[in-house]
Amino acid sequence: MIKAQRGTKDIFGDEVATWQWIFENAKKTFQNADFTEIKTPIFEATELFNRGVGDSTDIVNKEMYTFKVGGAEKNETSITLRPENTAGVVRSFIEHNLNRQSPPQKFWYFGPMFRYERPQAGRQRQFHQAGIELFGIKEPTADAEVIMLAVDFLNALGLNNLTVELNTLGCNKCKNEYKESIKKVLLPYLEELCDDCKMRYKKNPLRILDCKNENCQKIFEIKEIKEIILKDYVCDECREHFTELQSYLDNLNIKYTINKMLVRGLDYYNRTVFEIKSEALGSQSAVCGGGRYDGLVEMLGGTPTPAIGFAMGVERLYTLVDKVAPKKNDFFIVSNNSNEAIKLARKLRLKNKRASFDLQKRKFAKQLEKASKTAKYAIILGEDEINENYYSLKNLATGEQKAIKTFEELLNLS
Ligand code: ATP
Ligand code: MG
Repeated sequence: MIKAQRGTKDIFGDEVATWQWIFENAKKTFQNADFTEIKTPIFEATELFNRGVGDSTDIVNKEMYTFKVGGAEKNETSITLRPENTAGVVRSFIEHNLNRQSPPQKFWYFGPMFRYERPQAGRQRQFHQAGIELFGIKEPTADAEVIMLAVDFLNALGLNNLTVELNTLGCNKCKNEYKESIKKVLLPYLEELCDDCKMRYKKNPLRILDCKNENCQKIFEIKEIKEIILKDYVCDECREHFTELQSYLDNLNIKYTINKMLVRGLDYYNRTVFEIKSEALGSQSAVCGGGRYDGLVEMLGGTPTPAIGFAMGVERLYTLVDKVAPKKNDFFIVSNNSNEAIKLARKLRLKNKRASFDLQKRKFAKQLEKASKTAKYAIILGEDEINENYYSLKNLATGEQKAIKTFEELLNLS
């Protein structure tokens, strides 16, 4: 038997109702804030992620599904299944000159992402993210709106017990000074750092702070290193941006904690970064990660455009939310006359009712049994009903049955 690949999952049956409910809530929350949906391709040129996610990240170094297509004689190209969606949205933003519309340009998405990781609870190889990207605004009002929408989306799903962790990485100027002092203080310990951190030391030293390796964590606790890490290094402008953001969040009554170690996995972030966590998830506690990436559009060849966004892990949300019961059909048509049954089902569906009928010409009793399992009402179309032009309607919750004269009356029922 051929089985699903490790780290992938089929979603069907009762689970679908909850999935659809999560999607509907994302759609409602983001559309109400004037974000429009964007659907970009599932695969992109490998180079987009190498540059757009960054070659010091775990994603690019270890987790990408990359393969060659075309063959040597036909312009062989390297493509990658998207491991995240910011790079793809930015590519699309540049390619279609979306910066010509007046800012802010706001987009939301919901779809599968692919990372070659070790599968475990809350970690799959094909997983889904719901996210938003907001372009064109450098003011901290945008940061506040984006964080607010993450919180409001989670609240809409009934999730309130969450921690918003917040940090500022500063701009290129102050970030670079900080990087240099981190490098300096870590230099004597370079050989003791893990191999990943040795590489990060060269490519993006800030990412070292994100390391989960126990030995590296111990090194961060050494007094003179900790002091440098926790130093308030950002410049006046960045500090002002961060303070203003906090005042918006306070005003909105959104609780947060400042985590100076929060640097996030991707290379392109500047200024605001944030994560939302739920203790209920155990070791994979992050449901949402986001931040500002003012340099990315320019780095990928567009005109300089400030931007900020987040991505939520839908599978992790799924484990946290109360499961939604699948909705029942409005009607099941019980009849031995397939021609009448199929016509009536179609008529109801065109009026936006959920209706089903028997496809197998089974006995009335069998059809009624199916009806009571799957629908709110059975519409019985026997010979009498067809000849005399009425419907026998059975309420499947109460068992009550009555005659209904017109189609309009049926429509008003459920
Ligand atoms: P982690 O530290 O858990 O690996 P990350 O920094 O790689 O997270 P992001 O790239 O920020 O994650 O993605 C945003 C969200 O997507 C995460 O907070 C998480 O909820 C979800 N996510 C990331 N990778 C996976 C995965 N392999 N399986 C399921 N969900 C994931
Ligand atoms: Mg990861």
